[in-house]
Amino acid sequence: HGFAYGKVLYDGRSEYQHIRVLENDVLGRVLVLDGVVQTTEADEFIYHEMMVHVPMFAHGQAKRVLIIGGGDGGILEEVLKHPVERAVMVELDRGVVDVCREHTPSICKNAFEDKRTHLVIGDGARFVAETDERFDVIISDSTDPIGPAEVLFASPYYEACKRCLTPGGVFVAQNGVPFFQGPEITTSKRRLDPLFPDVTFYVAAVPMYFGGVMTLAWASLDPALRQTGEDEIKRRIASLGHRFSYYNAAIHRAAFALPSYIARLAE
Ligand code: SAM
Repeated sequence: HGFAYGKVLYDGRSEYQHIRVLENDVLGRVLVLDGVVQTTEADEFIYHEMMVHVPMFAHGQAKRVLIIGGGDGGILEEVLKHPVERAVMVELDRGVVDVCREHTPSICKNAFEDKRTHLVIGDGARFVAETDERFDVIISDSTDPIGPAEVLFASPYYEACKRCLTPGGVFVAQNGVPFFQGPEITTSKRRLDPLFPDVTFYVAAVPMYFGGVMTLAWASLDPALRQTGEDEIKRRIASLGHRFSYYNAAIHRAAFALPSYIARLAE
């Protein structure tokens, strides 16, 4: 699908990808990598809130969070709304971070300046294979499994992420739009199942990820996390004191209810 754009705020090639920031009347500024829409000012809140607050409120006491990818800073900005001690973000392409800090500041705000932020420029798969750090929540916010992000959907990466989780930790990942990318759900499930006691998907309706709902992979070391009741989630949200624009306790629970065609892909 396509959309009309007026101003081209940035158009350049980094070592890894073609980076563009375009302006659209409805979507605001749009980040495009290698011709694929990554995020837009207008709807970024949906994806970033759901990728972050579902695992964070399910866990309830995450202090150390790892973000893989996430170059636009949207995930980081949402993570820092929680009382975390440290947010490590491993992004392959410094060009994406630099361009987004300059051209889409409404998404990252001052997340990169937060003293809890530790930005690593490098390959996420290599980082989780080599780090001695442990994390309560790992959020894999990568581009699709083509090009530099392909390694972030492979078994060695999932195994290394499991190794980097603390007991009771949870891993979530961007897993595409099943209406068009159905086999990616089946592949992720098959690769995650042998590693984690609780593997499933949850959904979010992100307008610019065209084709219906988007699926986010969930892999937890503690099956009880996903059973956290709506009242407890509500209590945790209230104690944080943030009002979100998409996420809430009802959505948290409902997001795990999969349409049958997606549930079948995840069998
Ligand atoms: N929110 C977007 C989405 O849902 O598709 C993606 C966010 S962000 C723009 C995706 C990031 O993953 C990009 O900045 C890209 O550079 C990064 N990336 C791709 N492969 C990577 C790798 N192997 N290690 C770390 N970051 C990677």
